[in-house]
Amino acid sequence: MRVIVDSDRCELHGECMVAAPDVFDIGDDDEVVTVLNAEPGEHLRAAVEQAVLMCPLGAIRIEG
Ligand code: SF4
Repeated sequence: MRVIVDSDRCELHGECMVAAPDVFDIGDDDEVVTVLNAEPGEHLRAAVEQAVLMCPLGAIRIEG
């Protein structure tokens, strides 16, 4: 599984970080979310799928 964030869409709402804190993070000076782990293991799939659903801007995509 590969996690891709469209940085043009992300507006730092932070829902992804709540859903999958092992994969997404937002630092104080960030302008877009940081993907901590772009190829997370299968045990994180449910959390990443939740992040995809929760992102109000549809900025997160999963491949694979
Ligand atoms: S939920 Fe979407 S808009 Fe919000 S920080 Fe995550 S990727 Fe960006």
